[in-house]
Amino acid sequence: MKVDPKLLSDVRKYGEFDVTGCFNCGSCTVKCNLSKDSSTFPRQSMRHVVMGLKDQLNSSLEPWLCYYCGDCSKTCPRQTEPGEAMMTLRRYLTSKYDWTGLASKFYQSAAWEIGAIFIVAAFVLALGVMFTGPMVTDRVELNTFAPVEKVHLFDMGMFVVLSFFIISNAFNMFHLTMYKDKSVKIPISLYITQLKELMVQFATQKKFRECTTSSRWIKHWLIVAGYVTMFILVVVFLGWFQTDNIYPIYHPQRWLGYFATIVLVVFTAEIIYGRIIKRDQIHRFSHLSDWLFPILLLLTAVTGIAVHAFRYMELPLPTYYTYAIHMAIAVPMLVVEVPFGKWSHLLYRPLAVYFQSIKDKAILLQKGG
Ligand code: SF4
Ligand code: SF4
Repeated sequence: MKVDPKLLSDVRKYGEFDVTGCFNCGSCTVKCNLSKDSSTFPRQSMRHVVMGLKDQLNSSLEPWLCYYCGDCSKTCPRQTEPGEAMMTLRRYLTSKYDWTGLASKFYQSAAWEIGAIFIVAAFVLALGVMFTGPMVTDRVELNTFAPVEKVHLFDMGMFVVLSFFIISNAFNMFHLTMYKDKSVKIPISLYITQLKELMVQFATQKKFRECTTSSRWIKHWLIVAGYVTMFILVVVFLGWFQTDNIYPIYHPQRWLGYFATIVLVVFTAEIIYGRIIKRDQIHRFSHLSDWLFPILLLLTAVTGIAVHAFRYMELPLPTYYTYAIHMAIAVPMLVVEVPFGKWSHLLYRPLAVYFQSIKDKAILLQKGG
């Protein structure tokens, strides 16, 4: 068994991790609604860090099976913040899955993360200067200024590149947590039969519901639904979504856009406010990445609303300039956050629940169950 004496200091580069005071009383395990099948959750990965067991930590799914309700932290008699420790471990693991090394840089350095956002924003604006069409000023013609075919082509290209990064990182997660784990023999058929678990968790975040209040789960689900709706509208149906016609209010193009922007504005603003006032246990500690993702999402939604409002008021120049700003916020948000930042949790969590369900079934089969 290899021991890495630097593991604790490495993990601490990713956020709060003050579990050396933990005396293993187990109160967090008793309090956690998600620890049903385990007598060590969420303490095992924390022990791995303290003991320097890097391979065991890197192959662990446990940090992803915590949905951060904060109950364990409220209960801990030593104020070791196990909930926040799990959050830090998720950032650490995200950087281990990412083969480019960028996730590690972004999580450890504000200069890297903020610098990357500004560099991508500058690149988007430079592309805009090179490829946008003339500005018609006697009426709003957004599709003359930003031809929808060119924007759609750019969106699709970005989608392919980001998919490549996030899928290859997910493959690394599989390699570390499943392929290299020889403690249980896994029949290939289980990867197929358990696929339903992956679909259900991805669509509903059902496990989150087991550890938190209905209202928090619904808010989280609505944010994800709003984000996914906007993503599909922009990447797949941009020709239908970005038009110079203003459709009647009952048209699906408008209410789908309104649904996505309203839930994104309302709930991301609530998250940011919660972090400012540190109202809940889960908002007591905020890493830079906890701020940037909701702020970029909020700014994307607000500038999208502003484009729509200026177009509606028939103000050509404000529409075009706000559209350019909107793109210069939305694109860096996707490029930095999807494969390397907080967004990637949206994929890693359901994958972890899926992988864990496969392992659980395989163990049952081994026991003849
Ligand atoms: S409740 Fe606190 S002290 Fe007790 S095992 Fe959990 S982290 Fe350690
Ligand atoms: S934060 Fe909630 S889900 Fe996570 S380990 Fe603590 S009690 Fe369990």
